[in-house]
Amino acid sequence: MKANECKGIFVFTEIQDHEKILDGALELLSKGRELASKLNEKLYAVVFGLNVEQYLPKIESFGPDVIIHNKETKDPQTLKHYNCEIFPDMWEELIKKYLPSIVLFPATEAGTDLSARLAQRFATGLTAHCSDLEIDDLEDYGTNLLIMKRPAFSGNLSASIICPDKRPQMATIQQGVFKQQPVENPQKPEYIAIECKHQLEKLRIVNVESPTRYQRECVPLERSNLIVAGGRGMGSKGNFEKLFNLANLIDAEVGATRVPVFNEWCDQERMIGQTGKVVKPDLYINFGISGQIQHTTSIRESKRIISINTDPKAKINDISDYIINEDAVSFIEALIKRIQQEKKQFCEK
Ligand SMILES: Cc1cc2nc3c(=O)[nH]c(=O)nc-3n(C[C@H](O)[C@H](O)[C@H](O)COP(=O)(O)OP(=O)(O)OC[C@H]3O[C@@H](n4cnc5c(N)ncnc54)[C@H](O)[C@@H]3O)c2cc1C
Repeated sequence: MKANECKGIFVFTEIQDHEKILDGALELLSKGRELASKLNEKLYAVVFGLNVEQYLPKIESFGPDVIIHNKETKDPQTLKHYNCEIFPDMWEELIKKYLPSIVLFPATEAGTDLSARLAQRFATGLTAHCSDLEIDDLEDYGTNLLIMKRPAFSGNLSASIICPDKRPQMATIQQGVFKQQPVENPQKPEYIAIECKHQLEKLRIVNVESPTRYQRECVPLERSNLIVAGGRGMGSKGNFEKLFNLANLIDAEVGATRVPVFNEWCDQERMIGQTGKVVKPDLYINFGISGQIQHTTSIRESKRIISINTDPKAKINDISDYIINEDAVSFIEALIKRIQQEKKQFCEK
């Protein structure tokens, strides 16, 4: 698709567990609203799901100009879950019809799958896991370009990526990067209801079982105000477990770098960073984390950071409010003991 033919911003308004709009989708609608106003173009919220009408009032409050949603399907299961045969076909038709200039997706399993398939179908560029989006003019490349920012070269620099010639310009964005900003007195959007032509029984890929995210362990790290996180310096799965003991005592969530996740000391849902979650707690206490950019990029908005590390020159110290040069495991054991004692004394009073 040619740049001069395309206008408008589409947002994949993903439904989480067929019962709520994904927070990351609402964040993207907010950012999409800002970008669309800057471009003076329309913002489209595109939402497919089961009983989709229930989500429309909330979507309206984020100020899209147009909401495109599915009509109810004969078999309610058809759009209940993201399906990699159905959704890309429906989206392809929409993009061909409405020619959006920009398409934004939350960096979830569904968003990642859908965006990659559409990028291939339209032979256009896709920037994954962006940390910021802007509109700007660039000499030699064009006007009103989407500037997609993300860490590059092992996080040693922040790259600004553009897709000057092909359309749509597409990006996936991690949850928690942008704020949810409902619009005051939003205008009534135009509604477009589309038919889903697919029938489940004719698909090659069948969902035998689709566990919801709630049935899997769901770790609300993005909304947690107190996080205790561990890295390679925790040394073993057994030691990493101590973070859970501490978290239970102080009502915290446990986070991790990529190392504990790859070592199977904890599950993927707990990974914080460029390819994990973005967190903004009041207090982020970390144990044995070096502070590589792929991790720190997603903890920078924490109000306070306390770092426990044996290396006084660890990079994490540069963004820490308090630095403790100690062995992480001995420190956490002593901390747990102290909190237990304090709690006991408090209860005895
Ligand atoms: C494309 C890409 C994406 C990535 N995405 C992510 C991501 O989303 N999240 C992420 O976290 N990483 C990510 N990484 C990996 C990242 O680059 C780092 O490798 C990782 O964050 C390092 O984890 P760490 O701090 O646990 O380990 P290390 O860097 O090995 O640091 C371990 C730290 O523990 C300290 N230590 C050792 N022993 C002790 C002890 N006994 N007590 C106290 N301290 C001790 C050491 O001094 C050191 O500072 C990504 C990498 C790439 C290339």
